[in-house]
Amino acid sequence: MSEILNCLIIGSGPAGYTAAIYASRANLNPVVYTGPEPGGQLMITTDVENYPGYPEGVMGPQMMEDFKKQAERFGTKVIMEKIVKVDFSGPVHKAWSEAGTEIQAHTIIISTGASAKWLGLPSEKTFMNRGVSACAVCDGFFFRGKDAVIVGAGDTACEEASYLAKLCKNVHMLIRRDEMRASKIMQDRVKKTENITIHWNTNTDEILGNDEDGVTAVRVVNNKTNEKKTIPSSAFFVAIGHKPNTDMFKDFLDMDDQGYLIAKPGRSLTKIEGVFVSGDAQDKIYRQAVTAAGSGCMAALDAERYLTEKEII
Ligand code: NDP
Repeated sequence: MSEILNCLIIGSGPAGYTAAIYASRANLNPVVYTGPEPGGQLMITTDVENYPGYPEGVMGPQMMEDFKKQAERFGTKVIMEKIVKVDFSGPVHKAWSEAGTEIQAHTIIISTGASAKWLGLPSEKTFMNRGVSACAVCDGFFFRGKDAVIVGAGDTACEEASYLAKLCKNVHMLIRRDEMRASKIMQDRVKKTENITIHWNTNTDEILGNDEDGVTAVRVVNNKTNEKKTIPSSAFFVAIGHKPNTDMFKDFLDMDDQGYLIAKPGRSLTKIEGVFVSGDAQDKIYRQAVTAAGSGCMAALDAERYLTEKEII
């Protein structure tokens, strides 16, 4: 691409698309590279009930389709590709897509979000997509009427356990401590659900299975007594948090020890002029669709201001 874009947006969750809506309405002709999971984490959510403006709630994928349409309505170009490399060393910023396209842009808005974490067991890889999944909402359907195990004790794990309980015969939650991190309302919900069994102080020892059936059971160990037991299960869901998708920026931008990008307090500005951050890639505290959208708006306004100050537009 020889043309220098006014605004390249990397990522297509609520932050990226909101940035695109604002940037396109400001005539910046933004281009969004969606990344490997177009729509971001909301694509793997069912009902969103806390986004203002939807009194009856909305399905996550529907909401992201609406965001995309709204951005495109004002001229945003959406490219279903992943950015794999950036270079912020020159006055014009550069990025490369997975297909090898070089993109030049005066401003870049980073909204690459965060991805699911894994336990790191070899058996997780062996049975990936054959019973092992990090998304109950995407894959729970395949285990209707069967037994499932889910690891994690945060709001995500509770939400996904509740979701699975509606589809599966029995759901086993593996909690590594004697308490949950999740909000009380979510904890109460799983505790009251008859077909959810909570296993406290319990770690995953091994996911068991075979070539033909995929996952067949999960061997767990009580970390207080060292007692092991095997739970028959067709599925193993991991819901232990997320990692920001920021590796490709590490040579250019400041980040904390977990990889969350650091912006100027209260702003979307980074230490590189013309590079702005938004969404979960820079937010480990709130991580909500509405806060991501708000920060996408901030990044687009900051990008527009920068382009005006530099007399590029
Ligand atoms: P969290 O970081 O909140 O929780 C991760 C959980 O996984 C913790 O309970 C942690 O255990 C456990 N865990 C981490 N590593 C391991 C491991 N190796 N083995 C076993 N367990 C492990 O992540 P979530 O994704 O649940 O939530 C992220 C944020 O999103 C939170 O702020 C949450 O409130 C929010 N959220 C809100 C929702 C809602 O309001 N509807 C829905 C979903 C998420 P430990 O507690 O022992 O550290």
